[in-house]
Amino acid sequence: MTSSNRKNKQEEKAAPFELNGTRVMPGTRVKVELPLAQLYTQTPLNVPIHVIHGRRPGPVLLVSAAIHGDELNGVEIIRRLLRHSSLNRLNGTLLAVPVVNVFGFIHKTRYLPDRRDLNRSFPGSETGSLGARMAWQFKTQVLDRATHAVDLHTGAIHRANLPQIRADLSNDDTAAMAAAFGVPVVINSVLGEGTLREVAEAQGIPVITYEAGEALRFDESSIRAGVKGVLNIMHHLRMTGP
Ligand SMILES: [Zn+2]
Repeated sequence: MTSSNRKNKQEEKAAPFELNGTRVMPGTRVKVELPLAQLYTQTPLNVPIHVIHGRRPGPVLLVSAAIHGDELNGVEIIRRLLRHSSLNRLNGTLLAVPVVNVFGFIHKTRYLPDRRDLNRSFPGSETGSLGARMAWQFKTQVLDRATHAVDLHTGAIHRANLPQIRADLSNDDTAAMAAAFGVPVVINSVLGEGTLREVAEAQGIPVITYEAGEALRFDESSIRAGVKGVLNIMHHLRMTGP
């Protein structure tokens, strides 16, 4: 590397990141309230998006949880991730969404008010059902900005899943992310009509799903493995140092 190259490398700085009109400067973090839809009472449904924007350019990693409102482990995984010191020296941008289905989370249910499943509503539409609108806004405003994605889930009520990754392993970048996450069970899975994972895959965004524990319960080992897994992915993508 010549000295001028080295100088360019040092001076390489990220541009501001904009989300829904909010400008996030390099080296700062902002919580953006994103209006996803209105309930039938006209009550706005805002979803907080944590934008942690590194000083240097790099991947844009989306980490989302509770798209099924009763799946809690991912909410705690993101809470711990947001406090982690490695985010202070970030290359690229982390978009962390602790609760996508805010309605379901409040009501301790997987579903939306009309019993629709938000994770079967993608890509959604601008003028469809509540679920379709939420999916559409989330896809166009958040997912479409990401270069990589991790969606955090649990098993069902009274059915705990061993910590596992589900991903389309025929995509090399996705398979590398699945391996980097670092849990023993990786399932090759391409199903999922209308899921966040399906639309991300369709538009070429490497995406993995982490499923661990059961709904409505925190499980410490699943949470720890999830935090470690997301940090492993960030390291794998060179967003964080050794
Ligand atoms: Zn789920």
